[in-house]
Order: sequence, then C-alpha cells, then structure tokens
Amino acid sequence: MTARFYADIALAPGSSVSLPAHAARHVQVLRMQPGDALTLFNGRGNGQPGSEGEFAATIERMGRSDVEVMVGAYTATAREAGRAVHLAVGMPANERMDWLIEKAAELGVASIQPLMSERSVLRIKGERADKKLAHWRGVAIAACEQCGRSRVPLIHDAANLADWLKGAGHGTTQGGTRLLLSLQDGTLPLAKAVAAAGSGALTFLSGPEGGLSLAEEAAAIASGFAPVSLGPRVLRAETAPLACLSLLALACA
Ligand code: SAH
Repeated sequence: MTARFYADIALAPGSSVSLPAHAARHVQVLRMQPGDALTLFNGRGNGQPGSEGEFAATIERMGRSDVEVMVGAYTATAREAGRAVHLAVGMPANERMDWLIEKAAELGVASIQPLMSERSVLRIKGERADKKLAHWRGVAIAACEQCGRSRVPLIHDAANLADWLKGAGHGTTQGGTRLLLSLQDGTLPLAKAVAAAGSGALTFLSGPEGGLSLAEEAAAIASGFAPVSLGPRVLRAETAPLACLSLLALACA
C-alpha cells in the first residue's frame, strides 16, 4: 500500500494541489521524492453525498516545506462500518484517551463525544481543551491514514455529562439506540441488547476511571439510555467502549 494521507482540501483527478501542512510534513519525514506515488483522501469521496474513497497522486515538486502533487484516479472504497456507532465516553486521563481514539477510529467509530462527569480525573476547558481536541483529531486522522478509512470520525468538543444529556450544545452524538455501559447487577448483556436493537445507529455511554455515579446513571436512563453489561469483570474506561466497538465491527464485517 502506498503511503496514505488525509488532505482536507478539494481533490479532483487531473488537478495539481499543494498538500496541507500536516500531510506535507509527513511526506518530508518519509523522505519521499518527486515522482513517488501516494494516496490521498479528504473524507468527502467524489463529492456525492455518502460517498467515500481515495485518490491516487504523484509528487510533482517539493519545496522546503511545501509539497505539490498531481491528483490521479479516484477509487471508491468500502471500509466504513455497516452501522454508525457513536461513543460518549468519560475521558480517561493521560495517554489512555489517545489510545482509545486511535483504536476506536480503527474499529470504525462514527463519532466520539468526550465527557466530563462527577468522578472524572481529566477536566479541561478553554485553550487547553482546544489543544487537546486538535491533538485528538490528529490521532483520529493518523489512525484513518494507517487503517485505510476514508472518513475521519468526528470528535466533538468535550462536554459535561449533565449538559450533554440535556442535549445542550453538544448533544449531536446521541443518535439511534442509546446504551449505557453499567456495572449494576442484573443488567442486560450487551449482545442481547444489540440483537434487540435492530440495525440502526447506536450510541454507547461509558464512564471514566472512577465510574458514573448512581445519580448520573439514573439521569442517563431518564434520557433514554438502556443499561447494558459487558460481563462480570470491571473493564478500564478505555477498554469498555472498545469492547462494544469490537463486537459490532466484527459482527457487521
Ligand atoms: N471504578 C469504577 C469502574 C469504572 S470502569 C467502578 O467501580 O464503578 C469505567 C466504565 O467502563 C464504567 O463506568 C462503565 O461504563 C464501563 N464498564 C467497565 N466494565 C464494565 C462491564 N463489565 N459492564 C458494563 N460496563 C462496564
């Protein structure tokens, strides 16, 4: 596979384009040369709604930091998940959130809503939140470049769980059937809940390291989330949502 780069610019066969900074830097790091082939995607396919695909390209000219490429043929790709799976997650602290975003992107997640809740370790706002978000979006892009996805999952601005549940501002990931990952005894197993949910979009709500409080779980249930269990072991905050995605990614493969 030739090197794949996300380029958030208009791409059309037969046109010459200058790569955005992130892709240009990557080309330089790989020590690619004029004449070398690469693959570009911009998440917009061939411009038709719902299309996904990638473009062949050849490096034409390289400056100190800019890289010009000739865009070649477009190929439709079919690497998206069969159903949209959204994750709303109590952000785990440190590099665990990067890890979660990378793996979730590989497993086909449609969008990620980072959440802060009562027991969250990681609380971010203002400039620091903007920086984190840009970093996470970069992680998602890198994962898509590597795994062959042509559509980069959306990563929403971090929100407070209570606000998000009220649908205030950031409530855009609450699509389809809503499932709450819960450690309460007697909770319905995930596989059963998924089987009962039909084939539409799913949104999983998962807690941070410290878990969700009973009040938060009750609020989620009141907002239409049905509790589901991932079995008798307590999974870490990044493992639990990835277990859900794995089940669905493989079931729909
Ligand atoms: N210390 C916390 C554990 C939190 S685990 C506690 O004891 O409550 C982080 C999150 O992962 C949880 O809030 C829950 O949403 C999810 N999770 C972990 N293991 C799970 C399981 N076996 N079933 C369902 N959800 C689980």
